[in-house]
Amino acid sequence: MLFPLKFVPLESYHESPRRFGASRAKGTRLHAGCDLYAPIGTPVFAVAAGEVLAVYEFYLSSWAVEVDHGDFIVRYGEVKKDVGPGIAKGAQVLPGAQIGQVGALKGLKLSMLHFEMYAGTAKGALTDRSNPPYQRRSDLLDPTAWLDDALVNSGRFDGGRRPLKSIMGGDFMAWA
Ligand SMILES: [Zn+2]
Repeated sequence: MLFPLKFVPLESYHESPRRFGASRAKGTRLHAGCDLYAPIGTPVFAVAAGEVLAVYEFYLSSWAVEVDHGDFIVRYGEVKKDVGPGIAKGAQVLPGAQIGQVGALKGLKLSMLHFEMYAGTAKGALTDRSNPPYQRRSDLLDPTAWLDDALVNSGRFDGGRRPLKSIMGGDFMAWA
């Protein structure tokens, strides 16, 4: 898997409030993904080849793109409504293809890619308010180790916001 941004966020996605499982809504639910803090407009890239399942309004006036990557599904959340040309239901994406940009969150000064993963073994909408504590579909995965692995593969796991130097080729190389 590739890392979905062209740099490592300064603020660790291993730590609260960004980490998977961090408390939300005064402890009434848990954070269902990892938050990768990045400026508004930061390009977001597909972590693997896949097919776009849906593009829709998500949270605080931001949008989300769902992509079936074969071995897993990713919800790229809190992106701009303008996801870019060709990114729509049914579109095929290549590894490292741009599939959106980090969006603004209405009422918040922070912006980020909210990254959720699913095994793809369940059916239905990814958000399921009736399924505590994450309020997500039953095949929700913790993406932390997957993101770590992506950084190890790209030669960066030392923290700090800096460019990735990927060994994986393709568009990813152009970011170095
Ligand atoms: Zn989040």
